[in-house]
Amino acid sequence: MKIEIIKCLEDNFSYLLIDEVTKSAIVVDPSESKPIIDKIESLNLKLKFIMNTHHHYDHVGGNKELKKLYNAKVIGFDEDKHRIPEIDICLKNNEIWKDGIFETKVIHIPGHTLGHICFYFFRENVLFSGDTLFSLGCGRVFEGTHEQMFNSLQLLKNLPSKTEIYCGHEYTLKNSDFCLKYDAKNKALISKIEFIKNKLAKGQPTIPTTLEEELQTNIFLRSKNVENFSKLRDLKDNF
Ligand code: ZN
Ligand code: FE
Repeated sequence: MKIEIIKCLEDNFSYLLIDEVTKSAIVVDPSESKPIIDKIESLNLKLKFIMNTHHHYDHVGGNKELKKLYNAKVIGFDEDKHRIPEIDICLKNNEIWKDGIFETKVIHIPGHTLGHICFYFFRENVLFSGDTLFSLGCGRVFEGTHEQMFNSLQLLKNLPSKTEIYCGHEYTLKNSDFCLKYDAKNKALISKIEFIKNKLAKGQPTIPTTLEEELQTNIFLRSKNVENFSKLRDLKDNF
C-alpha cells in the first residue's frame, strides 16, 4: 500500500492509499475534490472508496463530487451516519474492513466529535488519526468531554510504538510552541522541532510522525491523568 499526501484547503491533509498493482485507491478525509482529482488523474488511479474520520466539512467536503465522478463508496462510522455526507458503508467500533490489499480496523475515539473514528491499517502499522491525535498536539474538544478525549488518546497509546501516524492537519509547528513552553527541557522535543523546521523550509509536510516520537514529545500524549490533560487542553485553547 502506497500513501500519497495531498495538501488541501489551508492546512488540511488528505491521503490517497494506493494498490500499485491494481491501481485502485482509497481517499481518507477529502477536504475538497479538486486536488484529489488532480492526483488521481495524474497517477491514473481508480478511486474505489472514500473514508471519513469525522463529519467536519474540512474532512468530508469532497465526498459528493468524488463519489459522483468515480462511483466510489463512502465509508464512515455507523453512529455518525446521519451526518457523514453520502455514506454507503457504516462501520462499527473495532470492526475490521477489508477490500483487496486494504485492511483496516476502526477505532472509536470520541472527544473532538462524538462520532470521531480512526482507521488503523494494522498490516502496515499505519494510523489515520483525523483531528484526534496531531503531531505534537491533539484536537480541540468540541463535542465530547476532556475525559473522553483523554481516554481516546490512551487507546492510541496502546498501538505498536512504530505505528506511523497520518493526521488531519499541518499544525505541527504551531503545536511545538505550546509543547516547548510547558516542556522546555525535553531534548527529544527540541530535536523534533529542528526536524520539522527543516521539513517545512523545504516545503515538505511534517507528516507522518510515529507513535514512538509522539510518546517522547507530545505533551498531551504524555499527560498522565485526566486532570493534567484537562489543564493543558484549557491552556492550549487560549494559547
Ligand atoms: Zn475536525
Ligand atoms: Fe479538521
